[in-house]
Amino acid sequence: MRSSNETPKMVIIEALGKKYRSQGADMPALIDINLEIEGGEFICLLGPSGCGKSTLLKIIAGLIPASSGRITIDGKPINGPGPERAVVFQDYALFPWMTVRDNIEFGLEARKLARSARKEISTKLLRTVGLSDFADRFPHHLSGGMKQRVSIARALAVNPSLLLMDEPFGALDAQTRQTLQDELLRIWREYRKTVIFVTHSIEEAIYLSDRIVVMTARPGRIKEIVTVQEARPRDMTGNGMNLRQREVRAVLNEEIKRAAALEQEDMMAGASHG
Ligand code: ADP
Repeated sequence: MRSSNETPKMVIIEALGKKYRSQGADMPALIDINLEIEGGEFICLLGPSGCGKSTLLKIIAGLIPASSGRITIDGKPINGPGPERAVVFQDYALFPWMTVRDNIEFGLEARKLARSARKEISTKLLRTVGLSDFADRFPHHLSGGMKQRVSIARALAVNPSLLLMDEPFGALDAQTRQTLQDELLRIWREYRKTVIFVTHSIEEAIYLSDRIVVMTARPGRIKEIVTVQEARPRDMTGNGMNLRQREVRAVLNEEIKRAAALEQEDMMAGASHG
């Protein structure tokens, strides 16, 4: 990895906490999150459903505020969304009334870029995500995998240094997911982005990451950070990757069980109140 102790960290998360107000009470969702990320790293946030992965990603994106602690990006505290961060969601969030090209150019228009400059960028990105022939189509003509390619292109259009991805391939079939994982790795290398990628899939986290941040069941804390050193492309059937999967599964299993027990408690509480 390209780590060096002297490299200033790109993202620094310190003593971060988040509470949600729910039914008149403050419910902790994240507790004491401390994490440093280098420029160019590929980080996965992995944990059982409800552990606060999306919450953490949204706070880094500046879409929701933290309750305590702080985050800096390249030394600047975050205070709402910023041009150096772009988010890709699972549900694509494309504008159905806009063509593929217009969707990709959307963020550029907001930045008052000239039409010709916008077109140059979208043409390049259409090529990057393999959709040059679909520039004038509308989202409803596209498959899920193609829609997610458009979302990725749209995120890249504004040239962010940090790409924040919330289970972006979670709704795709296994084959499409695998293809998009490979394309994302290619794009990550080619465009030299820093990626923070939320997933609850161990395989996905191991296939993609430089480091996996494993979180506890809610309220989410960082349980362990696993470094994946295997060279890419990674052979998921090889011994090294199998070993790695067993290692991460052992860390995560306990938390998945705890998350299931918490869910059971919630259901019982719901039943007794209902
Ligand atoms: P994950 O992405 O790991 O599945 P989330 O970040 O979506 O987890 O949610 C973490 C916890 O915070 C869950 O218990 C969830 O119910 C709760 N939560 C998320 N968003 C809100 C909200 N807007 N209001 C109240 N509680 C929320």
